[in-house]
Amino acid sequence: MSSDVFESLKKRYLTLRKKEVIRVLKVQDAIVSEIRDFLKGECFVEILAPIIGPVTDPGIRGAKQISFDYYGARFKVMSSMILYKQVMMTSLPKIFALSPNIRLEPLETVKTRRHLTEFRQIDLEVAHATYKDMMELGERMLCHIITKVKHRCSKELEEQKRVLKVPQKPFKKYTYKEALEILKNLGINVNFGLEIPWEAEEALSKIHKEPFWITDFPVEARGFYYMEHEDNLGILDLGILKDFDLIYPEGFGEAVSGGEREYRYNKIVERMRASEENISEYGWYLDMLKAGVPPSAGFGIGVERLTRFICGLENIWDAVPFPKVAGVLSS
Ligand code: AMP
Ligand code: MG
Repeated sequence: MSSDVFESLKKRYLTLRKKEVIRVLKVQDAIVSEIRDFLKGECFVEILAPIIGPVTDPGIRGAKQISFDYYGARFKVMSSMILYKQVMMTSLPKIFALSPNIRLEPLETVKTRRHLTEFRQIDLEVAHATYKDMMELGERMLCHIITKVKHRCSKELEEQKRVLKVPQKPFKKYTYKEALEILKNLGINVNFGLEIPWEAEEALSKIHKEPFWITDFPVEARGFYYMEHEDNLGILDLGILKDFDLIYPEGFGEAVSGGEREYRYNKIVERMRASEENISEYGWYLDMLKAGVPPSAGFGIGVERLTRFICGLENIWDAVPFPKVAGVLSS
């Protein structure tokens, strides 16, 4: 990656006024307001996202969390508000938040062009929903946003030379196992049980012209809060989750992760032990599970990644007013 790119990130006060930057910010404004409109139309209640707390999402594949002294206790900056979405289910059955997240991503993520260390998700959760319900909602939401933004921002997208198609529903679905087979045929071997590496995800994305789902990840690849398929009949593979990723086409990579949540205290403790989590850190979360929380499902869609996809940007750092990229000391 050229060092000029990163030098220019440090001079954001000079680049923010460029017409290409202003154009993207206008499209981003339309994206966020269309998401809000869509979700309000589906009777979601917008809540204010937490920014700090004693615990946050541990399932952040190689990134580091930020923790700091909070009046003598260790607190963390939200890497995602997943645990807080679950507790919200005791209060409101359909919620979303524009949630800021911090993840100190490994230095090599600079090369993926889709990782920031500070980003935002539209993070949503629905009580008593299944992961399939959430995939259906995700498809409608993405098609709604693209349709509306294409119309509202036709001038900006034309200047951007971005030809955007409204995807065809239902989107293609592969299980994790099927995705690994496709990768094998592309000459990329991923061992069962591992997260799909970033380069492999990009290779899969490149051979698609429409967004597609990957479902049913193995338990070892994901956080303890996803629900496992139950195997009462002995037919299903064991250790498979009711979860999904949505992948953008054309090499843009992952858009969304989500799934059904485990909400039973004993199961969560079992899973935390298996993934060697420090159980003592999860005080309020475990107390909440003991007190009882409804089952739920949900997902998070990265706002900067969505902006990058809609505008057809090469780099995610062009999809945010004040980009934070691993290792770059920008404003
Ligand atoms: P995750 O919980 O890691 O699946 O993150 C949820 C969503 O947030 C992803 O599907 C992306 O859209 C977005 N996201 C995750 N990590 C990053 C990052 N480092 N930079 C930008 N967006 C991200
Ligand atoms: Mg993910």
